Parts: sequence; structure tokens; C-alpha cells
Amino acid sequence: MLKKVEHIGIAVKDLKASNLLFEALLGVPHYKTEAVASEGVTTSFFDVGTHKIELLEATQPNSPIAKFIAKKGEGVHHIAFEVENLEVELARLKAEGFELIHETPKEGADNKRIAFLHPKTTNGVLIELCQERSNKD
Ligand code: ZN
Repeated sequence: MLKKVEHIGIAVKDLKASNLLFEALLGVPHYKTEAVASEGVTTSFFDVGTHKIELLEATQPNSPIAKFIAKKGEGVHHIAFEVENLEVELARLKAEGFELIHETPKEGADNKRIAFLHPKTTNGVLIELCQERSNKD
């Protein structure tokens, strides 16, 4: 099962400007900025109580975030759920008929292993599953 909403991902054009905007909005500074080269994005995280906000800026014109903004503009990009065991959940969701973008977990930002479900099987919502990386990984 999915444990809780871990974070909400928001696609932005200009991370610096959006960091200032979200700092003003939330009243807290972002606590980290991290590049994920494999996804062609730079991310920025805000801690808002029990949930986080992840801002995502494209670093390459062909990255998924650049394509998303070109198609839909800035805005909510994905909802990320925390899971206990990513492999178990991916197998369960595949068996339930959900289409997986990632059949196996990949490295994500913020010390997480992640995988995405295709929005065409989730009412148009891009869903990320994430599991905290343990020290032995
Ligand atoms: Zn995310």
C-alpha cells in the first residue's frame, strides 16, 4: 500500500525565481537544491509540515519537465507517495493493471529510490512512488 503523500512536484521555468516565490508563499526557506542528471532536472525542496514541495526546473530542452512545460505550462507535475518496499508495490500495481514508466526503481532526488506510473492509467495524474534509500544501498 501507499503510505502517505511524500511530496508534490511542481514544474517551474525558473528555479531561482520560484524559490523566492515559494519561500514567500510558505514562509520557510528551501532546504536543498539537487540536480538529477538522468532526468535532466534541478530540484528544490521545501518542508511543509508532514509533506514536501519539490520544484523542478529543466536543465535540457528534451527533459520530461521541459516537455511538460511546453505542453501544459508551469504547474503541478506529479504527486509522490511514500512506500515501504518499491519492488513489492511496483509488482502489485502492475498486477492491478497500472502502466509503469519505470519497471525497476531508479535513483531520485532527496535520498530516494523512485519509480513513476503512467498518467494514462491514473486519471491523468503522474504518480511517483518513492522509498527512502537505506544506508546499505
Ligand atoms: Zn518527485
